[in-house]
Amino acid sequence: MNFIKQLNTNKLLVIIVSFILAITSNNLVYSKTLDTPKISPQLIKNNAIFTISQISDNIKFSSNYYDKLLEADRFYKQGDLQTAKQIQKQVKPDFPVADSPPAAEADLSKLDAKAKQYWTTAIEAIEEDPTAEEAITSRIFEPLKSLVKEYPGFIPGHILLADTYDLYSEEDNALRVIEKASEMYPGRDDVLDNKIDLLLTYGKYLEASIAAREFAYSYPNYHKTPAYEQAADKYFQQYQKKLKSKITTSGILGSIGQVATGNESSALEISQMLLTGENTAGQAFAASIKAQSKMVSNSRQLEYINDIGQRLAKLMGRDEFTYEFNIIDDPSPNAFALPGGKIFFHTGMLQLMDSEAELAGVLAHEIAHSVLSHSYKRIGESALTNTASNLLSSVVGREVGAVAKVGELLLSQKFSRGKEKQADVLGLRVLDAAGYSADGLYNVMAKLKQLSGKSNFAESLLSSHPASSERMRYLEELIQNKGYNRYGYEGVEAYRAVFPR
Ligand SMILES: [Zn+2]
Repeated sequence: MNFIKQLNTNKLLVIIVSFILAITSNNLVYSKTLDTPKISPQLIKNNAIFTISQISDNIKFSSNYYDKLLEADRFYKQGDLQTAKQIQKQVKPDFPVADSPPAAEADLSKLDAKAKQYWTTAIEAIEEDPTAEEAITSRIFEPLKSLVKEYPGFIPGHILLADTYDLYSEEDNALRVIEKASEMYPGRDDVLDNKIDLLLTYGKYLEASIAAREFAYSYPNYHKTPAYEQAADKYFQQYQKKLKSKITTSGILGSIGQVATGNESSALEISQMLLTGENTAGQAFAASIKAQSKMVSNSRQLEYINDIGQRLAKLMGRDEFTYEFNIIDDPSPNAFALPGGKIFFHTGMLQLMDSEAELAGVLAHEIAHSVLSHSYKRIGESALTNTASNLLSSVVGREVGAVAKVGELLLSQKFSRGKEKQADVLGLRVLDAAGYSADGLYNVMAKLKQLSGKSNFAESLLSSHPASSERMRYLEELIQNKGYNRYGYEGVEAYRAVFPR
């Protein structure tokens, strides 16, 4: 179903006709080979996204814990994954079980009278096209919202609600509804198609590309997967084209350069640099950070991180970046990503970690931020929302170049919850695909969370990557629902050899 993404009555008709055709001809046939995802019913019931888990507070990261993981690794390397798992389970408490969502259903005739009533009421009102706000609410949105809430397995309900929000120009709601459906039913290509359509409507090419790629990775044998891979490449090219034209035409960067530096020539410097693209711009930011920081030159440590980082980056799908991995001599436990795959670790972070799986977990998360262009987009967004001057007020007064100031701007701001989640989703998939225990990042967050009461240092990473109970629970659900392996390779010995305690 390919909906026309314009606010006109054509679109209304298309939606209605598509569904009527689909339902009456009963031709909604979906692959039975796709996994049925599992999501907690709380997600469906009361809009509260996640239940709270206390597990992360109860894991004891003692020497016994790592001795067990070390023992498990010996079996893992021999190919005895079952024994490795049993040993890890002795020290890793089970996550609370995530419940299954209802089975997906695309056929309205299989639902009861109440569901049909919701559907028909909304469809009739959409056909009639009421203009009074009250009628739109009571006759269209209320029945559709009830339908989605009470019959969450009914896929066309989610899609129609999202499209109806779009019809009434409610971008955020449209995307929220389809995103939620796609989290609950990640294997449904009808949900994916609709999500991609909406993302493209709102000019979110990079997100559309990632959605298509994510599906292709998760379901490599599905018949539409080659098409999704091609689409992912196409949307990505569109994203790059749009980004370039935005930078060239908007004058955004001229203004941020001026805010940052107060003079025209620096403004020009920043604009020109950003026009060179994410990779080169990232290089310039990285160079300025390196010039201001005490860098660690231990080649064994740098090579170790680089080997793992490059391996993970290859699984992410942005080959045009020159990935680099740096260590800053700083005792606060922090790690961050600059545009174009330039990743930095503080020594304090490396001291906090005890296994390769933990390192890989943080690496994958940071690389994902770069791959998703979070830092790069932040520059433009900050200028657009006119917060650049506020953000920069904390760094002015220091005699550093324009590039350095924007570099600091990138570091001083934390990412939104949505962006953190995107980086978690992509990072965890790659962590699992690389064969590491999929709870590597989770365990680092849990350690920081346990430490945060005792040490100011722990707040450092947490301020940019919050480890709320909600997020911990979300990571637990993600690992379970996607079927990731929590008992993979830990690499305790390998890590200790490079970073001795
Ligand atoms: Zn993050």
